Amino acid sequence: MKKNNITKFDHCYGCGVCVAACPVKIISFPENGDGFYSPHIEHQDKCIECGLCLKVCAFNHVDIAGPANTDSKSYAAHSNDANIRLRCSSGGIGYEIGKLLLDSGYQACGVRYSPKLRRAEHFIATTSEEFQQSVGSKYIPSFSSDAFSFINKNRKKKTYVTGTPCQIDSFRRLIRHFKVEDNFVLMDFFCHGVPSLLLWDKYLSEVEAKVGEATFVSWRNKTTGWQDSWAMCVDCSEEDLDWHNSYNLRVREKKHLYQSRMTEGDLFFKFFLGNYCLNKCCYKNCKYKLLNSAADIRIGDLWGKTYAHENKGTSSVISFTKKGDEIISRLSNTTCSFEEVPNTVAIEGQMAKAAHSPWVKSFIFDGLRSDKPLKDIAEWCRIYQFLIIPKRAINKFIRIVNQKTR
Ligand SMILES: Cc1cc2nc3c(=O)[nH]c(=O)nc-3n(C[C@H](O)[C@H](O)[C@H](O)COP(=O)(O)OP(=O)(O)OC[C@H]3O[C@@H](n4cnc5c(N)ncnc54)[C@H](O)[C@@H]3O)c2cc1C
Ligand code: SF4
Ligand code: SF4
Repeated sequence: MKKNNITKFDHCYGCGVCVAACPVKIISFPENGDGFYSPHIEHQDKCIECGLCLKVCAFNHVDIAGPANTDSKSYAAHSNDANIRLRCSSGGIGYEIGKLLLDSGYQACGVRYSPKLRRAEHFIATTSEEFQQSVGSKYIPSFSSDAFSFINKNRKKKTYVTGTPCQIDSFRRLIRHFKVEDNFVLMDFFCHGVPSLLLWDKYLSEVEAKVGEATFVSWRNKTTGWQDSWAMCVDCSEEDLDWHNSYNLRVREKKHLYQSRMTEGDLFFKFFLGNYCLNKCCYKNCKYKLLNSAADIRIGDLWGKTYAHENKGTSSVISFTKKGDEIISRLSNTTCSFEEVPNTVAIEGQMAKAAHSPWVKSFIFDGLRSDKPLKDIAEWCRIYQFLIIPKRAINKFIRIVNQKTR
């Protein structure tokens, strides 16, 4: 018999917080048929209907569990360490916050890529050296439930938690429920969306067929500058990765075996940034664009007009809480440069609304599940774009006619 718990939803953000919250530990977090993590309960009879999974679930609420102080302050910022700045996706602020807090006795929860599992996963670091694995955005869904469960077991430990805005919204609800918000610093980022792991599996298999088994993957690098940093790099060398030895430097030293840039038509980025196969929620239910956040600090790439001349990487940083303000003040006195900017500058170039769902989405997902090569699916999508232009033009024409006749 189905009970009143998280399984009442047929899809969700896939944040993994319900798994950590459940007191009887009956929620698992497998990948669903669309290539996203989603909660599953095998034994419904064990559910005690405590309601906690629904209470902490951001998908189950219309509002955002925002911090009480809503006066936000915005900055353009970067790490003063050139090597950190080079390795990180934008200005390296995500890492610098972690380092500062780790040095102050916190543990830090970030996302790393595991070549063995072929997946991104949240992990706990207790030293800044370990936390270097979080550097660089992994543009796939992260498996978060193990790390979140670990943190939940020891809620008294001071912890820095990073993640997508929907993961952080649920996480805020969890720590608010247990009245331990003071022990946490939460960081999220402007979020485009997460693409299906079906895309990732297909893409990686096609690359590996050319160059061998991947031992390291990076989604961004700045070898041709930050403005052109959308580059998939897949390393197949046997040597162990030294986290002090930047992957970007390895690329520069031509140690990589495969590199493909968005500007060269890289298929992963075509599908991801073209919004071909995002999670259902990223199209329909994303309430986290621009300044809508449950975090203490939000970061992102400051890619608007004002910083268009910048090519080393600048983070947009928004502080929503006193805790956030204090961290920024400590960082600006030590390892980072901050320049206060109006909110309008900090959000320049960011998506203001959730992505449009392609009307051939089910065809794309069928293609990703099949053995069709990615380039064939992409070619079909190119044709679809030609079809959609006249449709958009007709809709626009109808809107104009309607306005004139009103
Ligand atoms: C799926 C995704 C979509 C994004 N969309 C946008 C966007 O639309 N606009 C924008 O300006 N920025 C976006 N970002 C953030 C951007 O890519 C940079 O991470 C950000 O600019 C911070 O860079 P940094 O140099 O400070 O640190 P980085 O070293 O790049 O820090 C990356 C941080 O992101 C976390 N992280 C990495 N991968 C994941 C993941 N899969 N899930 C959850 N957390 C992760 C890490 O733990 C780390 O704290 C997105 C990131 C991801 C992962
Ligand atoms: S209602 Fe309680 S016991 Fe049932 S799945 Fe949710 S958290 Fe677990
Ligand atoms: S776009 Fe919105 S719903 Fe999708 S992962 Fe990002 S925050 Fe979550």
